[in-house]
Amino acid sequence: MIKLLGKMFGQVFRNQQGARVVVHASETCAECGSLLAQAADAKPLNALWLCPNPDCPAQVRRGLVHWCSPAAMDIAGGDEKLVALLVGRGLVRDVAELYRLRVKELAALPGLNQDSAQKFFDAITASMKREAWRVLFGLGIPSIGAVEAQLFCRHFATLDALFATGRERLMKLTGVTKIMAGSLTHWHGDPVNRKLVRRLEKMGVNFKCAQE
Ligand SMILES: [Zn+2]
Repeated sequence: MIKLLGKMFGQVFRNQQGARVVVHASETCAECGSLLAQAADAKPLNALWLCPNPDCPAQVRRGLVHWCSPAAMDIAGGDEKLVALLVGRGLVRDVAELYRLRVKELAALPGLNQDSAQKFFDAITASMKREAWRVLFGLGIPSIGAVEAQLFCRHFATLDALFATGRERLMKLTGVTKIMAGSLTHWHGDPVNRKLVRRLEKMGVNFKCAQE
């Protein structure tokens, strides 16, 4: 029997039969101790094992790095190092809080100065005008990649209109799968996520889907 040793990610060892075994995932999140889980619709062999706790600092950081990534909101400077500082100091707990940061707060962080703080602040401000599909993709909703986000945005004038649409109606749209529709409505069904969407809109992040 293969015995998985926690926190031995990527290590190779021999099992009781002497066969070489690679530990693909630790059993629990190294940061918050939650049991790792795979997405329900994922193929078990190649899917990532992820921490399911939304309040886990590792998940918060991962969500922020994804939001800032060039493929999503393209906020230059929002890399793992800076995000870890922002979360570690309690300055940012979710993506909406990025839009409340002040240059003064940023400039006081180790490794930053007035110039780099201003640059990061300007990049955050500029991201408010990004296409709405980037916002949708940036939210990190399971099964909603960049392609799926673009597809949803072609069907709706605003993200509000998209989020106000039920699963059954979404499934009838061209190109929208049952998994995509279910994932989106399930995500938006969580009051915490609904509130996050409202806060982002209030901050002035673009929710208008471009008419192509
Ligand atoms: Zn965790």
